[in-house]
Amino acid sequence: MTLVDTRTPEPKRLIPGATGDWEVVIGMEVHAQVTSESKLFSGASTAFGAAPNANVSLVDAAMPGMLPVINEECVRQAIRTGLGLKAQINLKSVFDRKNYFYPDLPQGYQISQFKQPIVGEGKIIVSVGPDKKGEFEDIEIGIERLHLEQDAGKSMHDQHPTMSYVDLNRSGVALMEIVSKPDMRSSDEAKAYLTKLRTIVRYLGTCDGNMDEGSMRADVNVSVRRPGEAFGTRCEIKNVNSIRFVGQAIEYEARRQIAILEDGGKIDQETRLFDANKGETRSMRSKEEAHDYRYFPDPDLLPLEFDQAYVDALAADLTELPDDKKARFVEKLGLSAYDASILVSEKAIADYFEQVTAGRDGKLAANWVINDLLGALNKAGKGIEETPVSPAQLGAILDLIREGTISGKIAKDLFEIVWNEGGDPRAIVEKRGMKQVTDTGAIEKAVDEIIAANPDKVEQAKAKPTLAGWFVGQVMKATGGKANPQAVNDLVKAKLGIE
Ligand code: ADP
Ligand code: MG
Repeated sequence: MTLVDTRTPEPKRLIPGATGDWEVVIGMEVHAQVTSESKLFSGASTAFGAAPNANVSLVDAAMPGMLPVINEECVRQAIRTGLGLKAQINLKSVFDRKNYFYPDLPQGYQISQFKQPIVGEGKIIVSVGPDKKGEFEDIEIGIERLHLEQDAGKSMHDQHPTMSYVDLNRSGVALMEIVSKPDMRSSDEAKAYLTKLRTIVRYLGTCDGNMDEGSMRADVNVSVRRPGEAFGTRCEIKNVNSIRFVGQAIEYEARRQIAILEDGGKIDQETRLFDANKGETRSMRSKEEAHDYRYFPDPDLLPLEFDQAYVDALAADLTELPDDKKARFVEKLGLSAYDASILVSEKAIADYFEQVTAGRDGKLAANWVINDLLGALNKAGKGIEETPVSPAQLGAILDLIREGTISGKIAKDLFEIVWNEGGDPRAIVEKRGMKQVTDTGAIEKAVDEIIAANPDKVEQAKAKPTLAGWFVGQVMKATGGKANPQAVNDLVKAKLGIE
């Protein structure tokens, strides 16, 4: 691949060293397990957590004479992912054999795509921030390619004192390898890239993005250079399995390389491992030991070909992606870019919000979902899937506010009741007498009493009208927060004779 430098060095991203500033350059290869019931070339199940070797067909075990048959669902998912990455879809691609020996690779080769991948160049827009001023910056990270390949099995060295075991459940499971261009310039950008990539595949339903189950893993390529110089020699940190670790691995690796270069040394191109316990990377193998995989087209498989109409049909049916959803929330509902980005950050949150906002005020719904619902979920350590308040219940609370049946303040209490006890918000308001007092007679009585009891405050408020707020507060208190604040405000001003 030819490396094109598309970014200008920015002082805020530079890492200070003893002999001046350095720039870190990062490119990522992400393995994402395709969401599919069965494997890439066999009918065996892909279910997570099955007993060892329960999901292994004769093809996956590489029995002699077995032939791979491509699973159309995996092809469809790879194309849909490519479309989500705004990438070139190649109507013809080729499966190759990548040859190497490993005990958990019974075929003696992995079927992968080398020269002709199913998906070519694309891009991801990543929002980085907030910076010290609280601002976010959108940057574009190039995608080099996406190809389909088989996963290998797993060697287990900790099950028996003298033997190693092999579990082939993962053998043959479809992976998408998504390769970025070396476009990232900080650990924050790399974390934001991986987060956004995971959000996109989750929206599309093409990979579940569960890094702790191994459904998504990242190989992180890191190099450093002086700003303006050509790309430096990189090291590849293999199989990092959390977004936080990606950030830590980059920080450690960049500093390690800077220290070597400032000492007059040079970087050896090598494969490294991240040790999460020690927070450091260490060498696994050098470039000299690099494999020669002897790639060649798999003679058991024809080139993979489909027509444009197939791609167009998938494109027409594609889920609305987070960027488009965010733009729609800003344009059609008048939300701020910040609020919109919180709401689209997870598809389940966006779905919840869309149900609440249907036929209602977007900004009010956004405030309640972000501040009250997400706030409460966060405090309770729950995800949106576990919310005790359904979209219908929150929607009903918003309707009660808009009708003037309850005040915004009472609505907070109501939300808490629904959160803890469930139930129909409207019925709760009826039963517990939470209705806002709109009866001006009752409010008037309360206003008169407070005015009569506080002649000194009345004089002060006449001289300084902003003090009318004190009376409003007293009336609200006297009515248990149930008086309509607007009606109280109007009455207080009228009685005090101020505008
Ligand atoms: P390979 O096939 O040997 O792994 P590639 O050229 O395909 O190498 O690059 C693999 C990954 O490494 C890509 O994500 C790419 O962006 C990244 N990369 C390439 N050169 C550099 C570099 N100098 N610094 C950081 N990342 C790099
Ligand atoms: Mg590589």
